[in-house]
Amino acid sequence: MPDGNRKDKNINELSGKVAFVTGAAGSNGIGRAIALRLAQAGVQVAVNDLRPAQAGRPGLPAAVAEIEALGSRGLAVYGDVADSAQVAAMFAQTSDHFGRLDILVNNAGAPAGADRVPVVELCEDAFDLVQRVNVRGTFLCSRAAARQMIDQAEGGRIINIASTAGKQGVARYAAYCASKFAIRGFTQSLALELAAHNITVNAICPGLIASERIDDMAAALRPADLSAAEYRQQMIEAALQTIPLGRLAETGDIANLAAFLSSEQASFITGKSISVDGGVQLD
Ligand code: NAP
Repeated sequence: MPDGNRKDKNINELSGKVAFVTGAAGSNGIGRAIALRLAQAGVQVAVNDLRPAQAGRPGLPAAVAEIEALGSRGLAVYGDVADSAQVAAMFAQTSDHFGRLDILVNNAGAPAGADRVPVVELCEDAFDLVQRVNVRGTFLCSRAAARQMIDQAEGGRIINIASTAGKQGVARYAAYCASKFAIRGFTQSLALELAAHNITVNAICPGLIASERIDDMAAALRPADLSAAEYRQQMIEAALQTIPLGRLAETGDIANLAAFLSSEQASFITGKSISVDGGVQLD
């Protein structure tokens, strides 16, 4: 079969499916890129984030407009992924609007900030916030989605955004690493539990991406004698030295893998944590 036909089949196969993507308000974030890549394949997408648009961030209405410009349907769903009542309300809103759920992408992540310090200086609140959003949020949304997918009895896909820092410890990232290692363990357990329902559960482990998040990281980690912009540049140059394929990851690299894992072509892949890092981590 020619490649073009295979591509069309892939697009048709996702057409009409419904996805819920958390943490999708960032204009150059991973969640937004995944939502748009799925919409391009015909998926109807509920995009979540914590709060309405802020200064300098177009927010979810812009994401919904972009989804609709691609010919699909979008829905903005505000709420905290780590609050069980809000999660229940958000999944009910999505179900009322689209009538079903086929794909969950757990992408929301706690902002980088007070947690990016050595463990001996790490305060409990900063540690807890990271676990709350990254781990508890992934758990609550996965539980809500899995219950609905089991009821529908037509299979499904759960995709968790972990990190290369979920496979290898990084100094001053202890809280973040702990949360991303936890997501990988959660992914494996849930994959085993849901396999009988034809629901696959996988994690994507991106390497460093030049998204808005890297600005927060630079601001949190910079030494006193460097501005955030100078330290951001240093971080990028240091990362580039370690990447065999010679560039940082782009959000589109992550979105392409998420679309593949959502597709029928990935139906026999579950419980995996796949690095998208240009060859830094080799299995
Ligand atoms: P991002 O644009 O900051 O995405 C994270 C989003 O999650 C933000 O829009 C944030 O909203 C939202 N969020 C935070 N707490 C939430 C909550 N309780 N409920 C709902 N939404 C919440 O950053 P990104 O770089 O695209 O990161 C996306 C994911 O990829 C994260 O899980 C991150 O750990 C992972 N990752 C990123 C990189 C990278 O280099 N960028 C590398 C590896 C893995 P607010 O901005 O309003 O807080």
